[in-house]
Amino acid sequence: MHYVIIGGGIAGTTCAEELRKLDSASKITLISEEFHALYSRVLLPHYIKGKIPRERVFLKKESWYAEQQIEWLAGEIIERVDAKNKHIEFVGGGELSYDKLLIASGSEVKLMDQDLPGVSYLRTLDDADQLVELMRALPKDAHACIYGGGFIACEYLNIFHEANIPITLAYRGAHMWSRGISEEAGMLIKNQLVQNGITVIENAKEIECIGEKTIESIFINGQTYPCSLLGVGVGVAPHFSLLQESGIQMHEGILTNAFLETNVKDVYAAGDVAEFFDERFERTFITGNWMNAQMQGRVAARNMTGSHAAFDLVSSYAMNIVGIEIIFIGDTSRTHADETRLIGTVEAGGVTELFVRKNKLVGAILTGRNMDRAILTKLIQEKADLTDSGVVLPM
Ligand SMILES: Cc1cc2nc3c(=O)[nH]c(=O)nc-3n(C[C@H](O)[C@H](O)[C@H](O)COP(=O)(O)OP(=O)(O)OC[C@H]3O[C@@H](n4cnc5c(N)ncnc54)[C@H](O)[C@@H]3O)c2cc1C
Repeated sequence: MHYVIIGGGIAGTTCAEELRKLDSASKITLISEEFHALYSRVLLPHYIKGKIPRERVFLKKESWYAEQQIEWLAGEIIERVDAKNKHIEFVGGGELSYDKLLIASGSEVKLMDQDLPGVSYLRTLDDADQLVELMRALPKDAHACIYGGGFIACEYLNIFHEANIPITLAYRGAHMWSRGISEEAGMLIKNQLVQNGITVIENAKEIECIGEKTIESIFINGQTYPCSLLGVGVGVAPHFSLLQESGIQMHEGILTNAFLETNVKDVYAAGDVAEFFDERFERTFITGNWMNAQMQGRVAARNMTGSHAAFDLVSSYAMNIVGIEIIFIGDTSRTHADETRLIGTVEAGGVTELFVRKNKLVGAILTGRNMDRAILTKLIQEKADLTDSGVVLPM
């Protein structure tokens, strides 16, 4: 049996590790575009801030792959999956046959049309190294700008804020996560940003980078702002161009059932690239977080070796933004909710939005109300019926 895994991130590497535990005799090949051994993307901001040394981001040593008898092809890119003939093709030539294939190719950052030295993205260790260099080279009167209103924009906010660099933040919506969170939550976050001296520009649809050799300013909504360093966080897109004409079904991600199987026999998907069917929430999902990717890698390995285990996790993602915490739990899609309810107020310093479907709590977004996390996670996990008088929601 030859197991082949495309993508050496947490989903792919966990799958390889689990496969080796479950099947000591088979051949396992792990292909990774990046040259580095597995590292934690979650720890990258800590390394950039100087809180941990660079070597601490690594979760595996280079020697680990050979010790586990995992063939690790680092720096190799797969150009095409030929699912009909059960082989994959490498950029630059060469093919590899598989018996079972996992696609764990993650997502890639959306780039701006313009590029200039001083424009930074944050997805990989190489991006982090580049940002460390850029920050080292900043003049004393440097001014940083951030473009984007989601998770990566928040990482940049914390990084620049802790480095005491004045910040201008511009996002396209009326508030941060404008398509995801309530106006009240948006207001709380904005208040926190302004209190921390951050200049906030809303509804920033177009942005122009200005500079000769390196970025010097940005032009937004008719005004120019000084900018020695621009952090861009305008979203990610699943990495699945290699699947064109493969016959594997894709939507916003690679579509799988609850067992992480695609529509093509012996091909599985896991992690940020997978749009899997979640039996708990009765719909397909892409969940871009670490725990999800790790657990899916494990479940995929079990199913590739003959088990039939559905993936089941009430996912959550917590983020601190210059002192205010926002936590997403479960299914927080407004479109799929029958009803949303708000607990708390802006004046009281915290709001929690509940997402209800068929009288069941399916998701929650907590802004400045961490204390609701445990109880709401439990209610979502238990599929509690909110019409039941025994179910007590936070006030
Ligand atoms: C800065 C940062 C901070 C984060 N913080 C948190 C956090 O606090 N909490 C949290 O839960 N999540 C966090 N995340 C998100 C989390 O890291 C991701 O959800 C997780 O890493 C996804 O893992 P993955 O294995 O699915 O994909 P990835 O980690 O993206 O790995 C996929 C790998 O596949 C490779 N690849 C792609 N295409 C090909 C190809 N054709 N051929 C060969 N290789 C290919 C890619 O180069 C990549 O190395 C953070 C992410 C970032 C960037």
